[in-house]
Amino acid sequence: MTIAANLGYPRIGPRRELKTALEAHWAGTLPEAGLREVATSLRTASRRLQQGAGIGHIPAGDFALYDHVLETACALGAIPPGHGWAGEGPVSLATLFSLARGGSHEGEGCCGKHATAALEMTKWFDTNYHYLVPEFTAAQRFVPTANPWAEAVREGIAAGCRTRPVLLGPVSFLLLGRATDGTAPLALLPALLPAYASLLHGIAEAGAAWVQLDEPCLATDLPPGAAEAYRSAYRALAEAVPGLPLLLATYFGGLRENLPLAFGLPVAGVHLDLVRDPAQLEPALELLGPQQWLSLGVVDGRNVWRTDLRAALGLLRRAPAQRLMVAPSCSLLHVPHSLRHETALDPALRRRLAFAEEKLGEVATLARALDEGEAAVGAALAESDRIAAGRGTAPPRPVATAEGSGERANPYAIRAAAQQARLRLPPLPTTTIGSFPQTAEVRAARAALARGTLDEAGYEAAMRGLIADAVAWQDAIGIDVPVHGEFERNDMVKYFAERLDGYAFTKHGWVQSYGSRCVAPPVIWRDVARPAPMTVRWSVYAQSLTARPMKGMLTGPVTLLNWSFVRDDLPREAICRQIALAIRDEVLDLEAAGIPIIQIDEPAFREGLPLRAADRPDYLRWATACFRLAAGGVRDETQIHTHMCYSEFADIIEAIAAMDADVVSIETARSRMELLGAFEDFAWPSGIGPGVWDIHSPRVPDAAEMAGLLRLALRRLPPGQVWLNPDCGLKTRGWAEVRPALENLVAAARLVRAEL
Ligand code: GLN
Ligand code: ZN
Repeated sequence: MTIAANLGYPRIGPRRELKTALEAHWAGTLPEAGLREVATSLRTASRRLQQGAGIGHIPAGDFALYDHVLETACALGAIPPGHGWAGEGPVSLATLFSLARGGSHEGEGCCGKHATAALEMTKWFDTNYHYLVPEFTAAQRFVPTANPWAEAVREGIAAGCRTRPVLLGPVSFLLLGRATDGTAPLALLPALLPAYASLLHGIAEAGAAWVQLDEPCLATDLPPGAAEAYRSAYRALAEAVPGLPLLLATYFGGLRENLPLAFGLPVAGVHLDLVRDPAQLEPALELLGPQQWLSLGVVDGRNVWRTDLRAALGLLRRAPAQRLMVAPSCSLLHVPHSLRHETALDPALRRRLAFAEEKLGEVATLARALDEGEAAVGAALAESDRIAAGRGTAPPRPVATAEGSGERANPYAIRAAAQQARLRLPPLPTTTIGSFPQTAEVRAARAALARGTLDEAGYEAAMRGLIADAVAWQDAIGIDVPVHGEFERNDMVKYFAERLDGYAFTKHGWVQSYGSRCVAPPVIWRDVARPAPMTVRWSVYAQSLTARPMKGMLTGPVTLLNWSFVRDDLPREAICRQIALAIRDEVLDLEAAGIPIIQIDEPAFREGLPLRAADRPDYLRWATACFRLAAGGVRDETQIHTHMCYSEFADIIEAIAAMDADVVSIETARSRMELLGAFEDFAWPSGIGPGVWDIHSPRVPDAAEMAGLLRLALRRLPPGQVWLNPDCGLKTRGWAEVRPALENLVAAARLVRAEL
């Protein structure tokens, strides 16, 4: 019998019930018991749903109140001091949320109350999920504080459902963490393994038939020592619980050179992501042990499209039928819950989609087709065939432009001279990243427009009023390059996606980003094109109010791609080029309307970076080419800016330079200009605005502090190329912070200019 298996299920709830409950708990209106009740009912509902869908191996312990990596660290007792944990025994909810969000604890620190920073948060591989980075020290002790997996197994059995608990494997757990004292995390493996063994004992005792150990790091370039760590870890765990079959789960990519390592471990089964790398099946079959099970991820857990069932069956039939599990490629955490409530979608799109709930159905259908023959699932196969046949194979819009390559005619030095002749900016020009506070007033106007209580004209007038105030204020305080403020934008991707052809929007397509935070990425399902200008009238209006050069604001093609669910019938590169051409049209319209500076934001540029170093050059090649295509149509004297908001910059600095923008603004204040180290080995070729105000914090830095950061930057960067700006957009801040901070920023520029 083929086993229909699942690796993990969304936990936020079909109506974002967990988000509501968490936020109520943090606001003090929902006590712990109420929060736990919501969690239990979400787990119960998803277990029932999976059971009803015909899933044989239903994951358990994949639920987390905030983040599964954090909860793994807590269960293992890997909890840094300062969060109210006594060093042994159960971890309170207060400690969990203090680790997640920072906290303040009575009786700690010098003055009674002491603020403790949250753990660092970072991206979960190449997804938009963010996990909390466990912290270790050389003296780290790992002692189980609880066994949520055993509890989850018991909870299932009590409800008549034998589940398969899912733990983050010990090697990935260490590799995803960081030691605060320079210890190599893998050196902690001997200390960690007894804790894992004890958790596994508890899980076996609770009655689990299998346990899934997630080792996604096997799909990445392993650091030195990791292969040996895998061997010793799994040897120890297999010996510790000989009766409990271990399924080693890998996902987000092919195992490549790590295939022999994975199949050589003493595990009862291995899960492979065949969506990302179908070609690994053949070599895996060679390596599969005589007793080993193969779990094949053929249903895409990272995207929203239905599976081509016939193509999936073709892969599945090559595996030994007696030891086969059919599964999604990875946990379904990364797709929305269900299509059930998406009643407003274009039917032509809707029939092509599969969210988590529908993907379970696909897994079960595939298992049934293998066991009972295709006739048993004839209708589902026929529908899948019809959709596969109808998928877009039309070539995308040609990318050749009237101007040839589409790139800028002259190099930076010539453009910079033409721009300076036109713009006449002072040295160290001041600007912002684009957005001003999205106040209650701004949001109320948008909501009223959506509700129909404010008409288009009224909304337009309200936005114009906000723009006029913002421009007048920027003029008054002396910002050299003002912006209109982006008041009319709900979101930097959605605003553009709503105005481009080829995008669709779900109503409840929420995916957890971190904690209670969710995103509902738009869906690119047809060729992208721009039917009409998207931003021009706002920028033109803003420019009409000031003699200073107005900066037009756009979201870049790579970000519009990376923050969407993307059709899978064309290469990402081709889709990105379509978007780039649409943005190029907008850039040219802004230029023609007299906007002298245009910023094309690419905050998600780095997010598309493949996990494997060997795959990165190709991504960077086409991503930078798409940016140049979007920006490259303008004349020398039109200045192109771009913005990125992260500080990991060094490893892609050459690609960022290859985007050939005239000015790039980056996040540096938060790290106190640390990242500027990258500029020691690389002479930055154009304008650069290292952020001098960390806008993620409500603190308002004074002029001396910003001037100090600027002076640090000037040690590494040529003064003629440096701009002064905050780290990022100001939409999440209030005017009470923005006003003084930007006044201080202008004052800082004056201070340092005098020293030049
Ligand atoms: N222009 C955008 C803003 O200011 C940029 C946002 C971002 O970098 N994420 O809000
Ligand atoms: Zn930013």
